[in-house]
Amino acid sequence: MRFNPNISTNIERLLFAVLMAILAGAISLNRWAYSVDQAIYDAAIAQFRKPIDQDILIIAIDERSLLELGRWPWSRDLHAQLLDELADAGVEAVAFDVVFAEPDRVNPNNDHVFAQAIQAMGRVALLVHMEQTHAGGQILEVMPDPLLLQSAAAAGHVHIEYDVDGVSRAVFLKEGLGEAYWPHLMHALWGLVDPNVSDDFPGLRPKAAQTASPFVIQRDYYNLIPLADPTSTVATVSYTDVIHNRIAPRNLKGKIAIVGATAKGLGDIVATSIGPMSGVEFNANVLNALRNGSTILPVSKLAHALISVLAVFGIIMLGVRASPRDYLVLTVSAVAIWLTLSVVGLFTVRVWFAPLSVILPLLVFYPLWSWRRLEQALVFLRRELARVEQQTRPEQIWHVNEAQKKLAFLAGVTGVLQWQLVARESLPLKPSRLFLGADDNNGVGEPALISGGGAREQRTLAIVSEAGATEFELQWQWPDQVAEVDKGLWLNAINMIANQKVGVEKKIPSELVSETIAQLRQANKQIDESRAFFDRCLENLQDAVLVANLFGEVVFANARARVLFGLNQPVGAALMPCLEQLQIDQGWPAVIGRIVHDQGEIYAEVRGEQETEAFFLQLASLKWRSDDLDTLLFSFTDVSFIKEAERVRSEALQFLSHDLRSPVVSILALLEHYRSRNTEQLVSDAGLREVFTEIEQYARKNLSFAESFLHLARAEIVGDSKFDLCDMHSVVDNALMMTRQQALAKSIGVDVDRTLDDLWVWGDGELLERVVVNLLSNGIKYSEPNTKISLHMRGNSGAVELQVADQGIGISADELDTIFQRFHRAAGGLPVSGAGLGLHFVDTVCKKHGGSITVASELGVGSTFTVVLPLCDNQFDE
Ligand code: ADP
Repeated sequence: MRFNPNISTNIERLLFAVLMAILAGAISLNRWAYSVDQAIYDAAIAQFRKPIDQDILIIAIDERSLLELGRWPWSRDLHAQLLDELADAGVEAVAFDVVFAEPDRVNPNNDHVFAQAIQAMGRVALLVHMEQTHAGGQILEVMPDPLLLQSAAAAGHVHIEYDVDGVSRAVFLKEGLGEAYWPHLMHALWGLVDPNVSDDFPGLRPKAAQTASPFVIQRDYYNLIPLADPTSTVATVSYTDVIHNRIAPRNLKGKIAIVGATAKGLGDIVATSIGPMSGVEFNANVLNALRNGSTILPVSKLAHALISVLAVFGIIMLGVRASPRDYLVLTVSAVAIWLTLSVVGLFTVRVWFAPLSVILPLLVFYPLWSWRRLEQALVFLRRELARVEQQTRPEQIWHVNEAQKKLAFLAGVTGVLQWQLVARESLPLKPSRLFLGADDNNGVGEPALISGGGAREQRTLAIVSEAGATEFELQWQWPDQVAEVDKGLWLNAINMIANQKVGVEKKIPSELVSETIAQLRQANKQIDESRAFFDRCLENLQDAVLVANLFGEVVFANARARVLFGLNQPVGAALMPCLEQLQIDQGWPAVIGRIVHDQGEIYAEVRGEQETEAFFLQLASLKWRSDDLDTLLFSFTDVSFIKEAERVRSEALQFLSHDLRSPVVSILALLEHYRSRNTEQLVSDAGLREVFTEIEQYARKNLSFAESFLHLARAEIVGDSKFDLCDMHSVVDNALMMTRQQALAKSIGVDVDRTLDDLWVWGDGELLERVVVNLLSNGIKYSEPNTKISLHMRGNSGAVELQVADQGIGISADELDTIFQRFHRAAGGLPVSGAGLGLHFVDTVCKKHGGSITVASELGVGSTFTVVLPLCDNQFDE
């Protein structure tokens, strides 16, 4: 299976993104990062606080008021008096953050007085208080005394919402038993001074429809209230100071007053992000925020979770193609941007999105992902290292037996007379003496230093043996005469052995990245070195090597090839002009077409520009990578000198055969001439006749030798450039005709059995004829008279099979292998003349035609020779 790191990385990243998105959702829904989120919120809010509106006035029921006006609760005519004072001073509106639940039982008239004052004042809001009868008990909506409520312009609740950390940051703008009916007191108060206040309350609404139980408090319109700058305190006057007219009316004019307790133990204390404050002061802040429109809407739980999930998933997937560094930048920027967005959202659109549910997963993801990437990189590095180390030669650690082998070879080359490696006796290794040299190649034995010879030398070498690194002493002896070169070689080699690092084999480290990288670098260096080594070998090769691609461009040419083809810049050079400097039968395009089509290899002879230049071409095509086109690999071996020798030889042979032939032909002609002239003398003189016959026999034998040589010489030099289409039927017909006389002379019949199909062979017709003639005439020669020879010929899967079978003397099994050799003649048998060249000729011709000859024979039974030649398949294409 092919491993694709990209796919697995992408899947892993997707998995991580999903996991982190789930984490984001969980953080959001469970508010795991609540405290940090709140800290961010508080810090952000603190940065942008504004001073509180100065027309908001607290009329504080403080310690001094209690001191001067007596213990709480005060008689309600006092409140009436307060209202009168405020109305006189021109206060805009008043809200009582004070519970007036029951009627004044001591002096019911006071209620009337107060009610009148409320009515007179006009813009007065009273408090509706939610009270629990006891812990866990029923909740009651405690209304102001009906008399007062009727007179008041508005009424509202002052519930303050506490966060999980016990700090108040928000209020519900509506609240009520069974139904969120009552507005917040401050909202009611605001409504009294500003007729434009809309009934569209801002704030977060409950998700589900509220249960309509009349005994459950319902709350609605949740709003975060940013507190005003604590350095600008709310304008506050003491209740008693107003009653006693100690406040200048201009200081009260146009103010919106909130009456409430600040005295210790009387009013409630609210914990806020800027410290504890009285409930009335908090409410002043609520009013301030409502009027300034600075209340903040928190993102609903579901939307928050959804946004968190999508944002985290999106940001992580955004960095799919990012490098670790880019991803760090992406993470840091995403965190910064998200943080900024949530802070900016507070002050622009006044929406609060707690950012940690997005930030936290991103921060968790980065190191996690980096770790995974590092792991992957390390795994890759290790695998690469293992692969590379497999390719490079391991760092050489010479073991003693290897050192011996090497020294033995070198000693032979440099002519060192004798040498031996001896373990130093002082060492723990059992002193085994290792002798190598001419006499003893196997090691242990007594030293056999011969007397005489040249100088003796020795050297200490550290070599690894079974006992670990051991010191050995190498002793050697030079012959009397030693060349300086040899000496240099030997000493160099010894130095190399002496300088070998002896140590344990290295293992791939399991952890350290840098160490792995260092090793990989080292291994790469080794690869580079070995590549340089192979490059040099290739460069210095005796053969001209040319590599080309299928676009007809040279990719590589070694030194010989560059010289041969006159290439200065081999890479990218056009292939054809190079090749066309050499001639090949069939032409280059056809040859290249064949190799690309058939793959495999082609061996052929090519000729250079000069007639004496000849090369042996080996052409192969190989696929460099699986998706690549083929690469063509040409190797030209210079065979000019072999060709030359061959030419000289065949010339000599032809010359010889010719020279041998012509005198013999002349002798035969002379004999014939004399015979025709002196017929009578020959008839009468039996002795002369016998001499004549004998001379003629010898001459004919000689002629046959010469002809055999001639034929063979032709067969050996023939190349397929001289070939043509040959019809095997006419080849056989001609051969039968040529041997007819010979067969008749011995009364041997030749049975012919052949197919009627066309059988075309690409070859030399004359040579093929002689093949059949040789086989037939051998059959006749090595058979008794009155026997039979049968000739079969048929086409058989792309080849023609020709069989000549006789009923002759046969060939012994041990000679079957050798009869095709030059000058071979079987022992015994019939007294037949021959040079032992006929079958060698047949074999040569068959091979030249890409075919073969085989023989089956049995002594006394007969022999069957089978020739197989490839048929020309596209015979009529051209
Ligand atoms: P020669 O000129 O001697 O016939 P060949 O090369 O034709 O040379 O044959 C080599 C030897 O193989 C022969 O000397 C003969 O002993 C043996 N030989 C060839 N053909 C036959 C055959 N048809 N039957 C028996 N022996 C044969």
